[in-house]
Amino acid sequence: MCGIVGYIGPREAYPILINGLKRLEYRGYDSAGVALISEKDAQLNIYKTRGKVDDLEHQCASKDISGTAGIAHTRWATHGEPNDVNAHPHCSQSESLALIHNGIIENYLVLKQLLVENGYQFKGSTDTEVLVQWIEYIKVTHKVDLLHAVQIALREVVGAFAIAILEKDRPDQIVAARRGSPLAVGVGEGEFFLASDASPFVEYTNRVVYIHDDEVAVISREKPLKIVNLNDVAQTPEIKEIEMSLSQLEKGGYPHFMLKEINEQPQTLVDCIRGRINVEANNVVLSGVIDNQEKFLNAGRIIIVACGTSWHAALIGEHLIEDLCRIPVEVEYASEFRYRNPVINPGDIVIAISQSGETADTLAAIKLAKSRGAFIYGISNVVGSSIARATDSGSYIHVGPEIGVASTKAFTGQVTVLSMLALTIAQLKGTIAPDDYTRLIGELAGVPDKMEKVLKTDPQIQELSKIFTYAHNFIYLGRGYNYPAALEGALKLKEISYIHAEGYPAAEMKHGPIALIDERMPVVVIATSDSVYEKTISNIQEVKARKGRVVAIVTEGDEAVTDIADYCIEVPRTDERFAPLVSAIPLQLLAYYIAVNKGTNVDQPRNLAKSVTVE
Ligand code: GLU
Repeated sequence: MCGIVGYIGPREAYPILINGLKRLEYRGYDSAGVALISEKDAQLNIYKTRGKVDDLEHQCASKDISGTAGIAHTRWATHGEPNDVNAHPHCSQSESLALIHNGIIENYLVLKQLLVENGYQFKGSTDTEVLVQWIEYIKVTHKVDLLHAVQIALREVVGAFAIAILEKDRPDQIVAARRGSPLAVGVGEGEFFLASDASPFVEYTNRVVYIHDDEVAVISREKPLKIVNLNDVAQTPEIKEIEMSLSQLEKGGYPHFMLKEINEQPQTLVDCIRGRINVEANNVVLSGVIDNQEKFLNAGRIIIVACGTSWHAALIGEHLIEDLCRIPVEVEYASEFRYRNPVINPGDIVIAISQSGETADTLAAIKLAKSRGAFIYGISNVVGSSIARATDSGSYIHVGPEIGVASTKAFTGQVTVLSMLALTIAQLKGTIAPDDYTRLIGELAGVPDKMEKVLKTDPQIQELSKIFTYAHNFIYLGRGYNYPAALEGALKLKEISYIHAEGYPAAEMKHGPIALIDERMPVVVIATSDSVYEKTISNIQEVKARKGRVVAIVTEGDEAVTDIADYCIEVPRTDERFAPLVSAIPLQLLAYYIAVNKGTNVDQPRNLAKSVTVE
């Protein structure tokens, strides 16, 4: 959600900033802008527009884009409509400061009133414009330099932010700070980069410093990186190596990142289980669990907090942990959890799942659970992310950068980590029979090959998608482990094709949704061979009796469902616990091809953001 890029060094900043914004486009945005200090006349030039980075480039084509220091932004509007005026960068009253911001300033109205009383005027309606004016006001009234003004100003600010500020009279530095929203500094030779994540600068440097909450960074030409906290105490920058590579950020011949990421899943699953599952040695070792085994052995309850696709992975985790470890599990929407005064007992474990590791709702839930004494375990994809840092322990899913906004490989990575977590705890607790443990390890390790096989159904699904391109509604049904898979299938379709889709436990259909079924209603049923297979067949019969059109995901060699469903997609036989990993793929492909047929923006669907950094 929203992207921040900054550059200072010997090179022209504009191309670096624009390419950086393009790298961050996947996060979702509605406007774009750039600020540069001109080499020609030392002016602060700001260009911004509603729309895409391409629109910004178009606007800049005839402008002075010179300068070796600059900041750039893609906005995902929270305060004020997405228009040219509200786009970032925002300028202070004296026009000497330009600021970009990701996040929300919660007390902006109080600050705005104070500024208005002191003669400040506002051009737009964002909280961000208030922040830049507030910093200037502090700078002027306290007679301090920009760094100190930022420190003082931010002490009064309530909310979440990653900011970068360019000062007209100081072309030699950029000041940046964060609280809650992500911010990384790329450290090059005699140059620095700033960004919401490392992707805009991977081709220039492999050294990164992640800025912590309430730290202010000053990046200067030919000076070392300076980091201080809001009380002016110097902090030692911790330089880390960037783990992503340029090829991971490119489409690699696929028309969309989403299709690339769907097809990567056999490999990303191998990466996810590498070093954790050892079939020969007959063990699963999830070090975050092993290192904290006392906590897991004594846990009275596990609460999983997550949002969106991660919440669906959490539901599968609930089945797995209750089934294999006999520990009660509750799954919560992170956004609801924090506002309902939840009961957290000593010994409870909270597992927080987020692909980006920056999801604001999940971070807030973590803070609440922490304040009540829970042990927090994080599952995320982004190394060094806020959630990875805010948790007591955790596991990365190691599926590589996910650029398509609709999550695919991160979902299967999350489910895989939860599977390994459940197996690890079950073995420690002795709640799994040795034979079952061995068999399930083999099953999980065999999933990548099965995924490879399912991906071969691509042409069949592409054909099938044509039949449903113009459907207005879809129902997705599944039972047991396949119920969360149905929810996830419906979410994929909604997200990228904008077709209304609902997922239900198959048996629940007769308690209401069955009223919707007629000959126009496509019903996708995940009916793989499992302990509730016969029951699912009855549910399919109920749909057919009302003339619904059934698309069924079935196990290879299936006969019963194949006889009654209108269309069937076969997947390899898999233990029911890991079946969602395999059945996810045809559901992802179906949503993908329907969206492509409709001509929607598959990788950046409307209104959506990849990493939801506002609550
Ligand atoms: N709250 C700010 C705005 O609406 C920043 C939003 C963002 O993160 O892009 O302009």
